[in-house]
Amino acid sequence: MDGKTADGKMTGGKTMDYTGMEIVNLITGKTKLLGVIGNPLSHSISPQLHNTVSRGLGIDAVYVPFLVEKGDLGAAVRGLKAINIVGFNITIPYKNEVVRYIDEVSREAALVGAVNTVKNVNGKLYGYNTDIPGFIRSFKEESGMDDLRGKRVALLGAGGAARAIAVGLAFEGISRLYIINRTRGKAADIAELINGNISPVAEYHGTSDTKIEEVLTKSDIIINATSVGMYPDVNKTPLDFPFSFLPRQVLYDVIYNPGKTRFLEEGEKQGIKVVNGLGMLIYQGIMAYEIWMGIKVPDEITRRLFEFFPGLPCREGFYGRNFH
Ligand code: NDP
Repeated sequence: MDGKTADGKMTGGKTMDYTGMEIVNLITGKTKLLGVIGNPLSHSISPQLHNTVSRGLGIDAVYVPFLVEKGDLGAAVRGLKAINIVGFNITIPYKNEVVRYIDEVSREAALVGAVNTVKNVNGKLYGYNTDIPGFIRSFKEESGMDDLRGKRVALLGAGGAARAIAVGLAFEGISRLYIINRTRGKAADIAELINGNISPVAEYHGTSDTKIEEVLTKSDIIINATSVGMYPDVNKTPLDFPFSFLPRQVLYDVIYNPGKTRFLEEGEKQGIKVVNGLGMLIYQGIMAYEIWMGIKVPDEITRRLFEFFPGLPCREGFYGRNFH
């Protein structure tokens, strides 16, 4: 038996010393509760990100992971509302399903069909998608291209990340969106969503279409929103044919593990501007925090997060795909 006796002696023979014990004041009766719902969650960096922001700002809040089993999402959301949580994130696999449990969903989140951030205001749940502004802010700040109006964009991929990015870009006033995906039908769905609800700028292609090189050449921005090239498949690239980038082009990769994918490496070798997805990850978190707390997170805190977080993916056991 591994229990211990009242005088601190372990039944296994070891003696515990409690003299250094102190009252723990990290969480009190006034501490605000935040968290993330998902499954799996063990690789999520959101607890570190949000708790670092709270600590930096001196805000009395704690952010915890809530592992929710399939079929329990509705009960989990009702439970969080019942215990007066301030707000929470939703990650894989529940970003779409959660929409049905939210009282009011923002227009952008409704278009994407996915909510990653919920704020609880007096028992009413408001849903947002901060992947959209998170990507736009990261792209503009890190690429230096801060006006997207009139730009032509090639978007590789048609999964959840691509959908959020497509909606964000269309609202920014780009003039053309070429959606390229292995499964053509998924690219067609996003094109229809954009053309029917925001502006008629989208066209779609399968990855083996003969026009791919032509649309890539026309593009000012090429974005990888597939998971191709993500650890451990670091030798893969979504452009698996030789392509010469043009000096005006900017490459963005939603992947941040590795920090430089083969796709970005090839762009960099050819001397063009490349940006990875770490900024999108950090900004979606910052923007969620701003929604919950009704404050603007100072740039200095954001800058520190950019310094801290590139180190995190090197941690053993971090290599999942469920990072939020
Ligand atoms: P999804 O599973 O929804 O979509 C995956 C996409 O990748 C699909 O377009 C899929 O094509 C494509 N794909 C996967 N494998 C291959 C392959 N072997 N060849 C060609 N295409 C392939 O994933 P998400 O959209 O949620 O995530 C995509 C990536 O974005 C991941 O690496 C994820 O970590 C990252 N991400 C980063 C974020 C950030 O904040 N930086 C936020 C969210 C995601 P098909 O439709 O044909 O299957």
